[in-house]
Amino acid sequence: MLGGMSWESTSQYYRLANEIVRDRFGGLASARILLHSVDFAEVERLQATGDWTAAGQLLAEAARGLERGGAELLVLCTNTMHRVADEITAATDLPFVHIADVTAAAVRAAGLRHVGLLATGYTMEQPFLRDRLEAHGLSVLVPGAGDRAEVHRIIYDELCVGMVTEPSREVFRGVIGRLVDAGAEGIILGCTEIELLVGQDDSPVPVFPTTRLHVEAAVAAAL
Ligand code: GLU
Repeated sequence: MLGGMSWESTSQYYRLANEIVRDRFGGLASARILLHSVDFAEVERLQATGDWTAAGQLLAEAARGLERGGAELLVLCTNTMHRVADEITAATDLPFVHIADVTAAAVRAAGLRHVGLLATGYTMEQPFLRDRLEAHGLSVLVPGAGDRAEVHRIIYDELCVGMVTEPSREVFRGVIGRLVDAGAEGIILGCTEIELLVGQDDSPVPVFPTTRLHVEAAVAAAL
C-alpha cells in the first residue's frame, strides 16, 4: 500500500483489508501488508504548486521501495494521486489496482452509466480520473464551481485531519441532491476520505465508495 494521503483514509484501507481477510479465513487470519506512508504535507505542497512531476517521482521511488521489500501488488490509497499513476506503474513491475477501473466496474455492475463525482478539486477538474471512468462507458457529472470549492475545502481542512461534522455532512447531502437533479443515477465518493463523512443513507441514489471498492478489489487480486 502506498498511503498516507491522508493517513485518515489509509487507516481505513488497513482496517478493511484485515476485516475482509478475517471474515474469509476466520480465526486470527490477517492481511499481509507492506505500507509506505508518506508525509502528506509534502505531497499536498506539490499538489498545490502543480508540481506533479516531483509528486510522481516521490511516489515512484516509494513504489520501488515496496517492490524491493517484497510487495507483489501495488495499491495507491488515494484517487487524486492517480494523477501520476503512469509514473508510478512505470517505476515497478508490480501489478497495479487502478481505482478508476475498480469503481467503473462497480458502477457498471449496478447497471448504471450516468454518475456524479465527488472528489478533490484536482480530481473533479482535471481529466485523469474522469477520462478513465468514461473509457469504461460512464458519463461523469461534476458539481458546479461553488460546490466543487466547498467539497475540496471540506476534504483538506476537515476530513484529512480527522474532523467529521454534521454541517459538512449537510453540505455533501446538498451537493449530492444537486447532482441527482442534474441527472446522476449514482454518486462516486471519489476521494478516499469522503466515506468517513457520508454513505448510502445520505443519498437517494446508489453511492460508490472508492476506498471500500478499492480494498475489496485489491484483496481479491492478492488472494
Ligand atoms: N485521499 C484523497 C483522494 O482520494 C485526497 C487526498 C490526496 O490528495 O491524495 O483523492
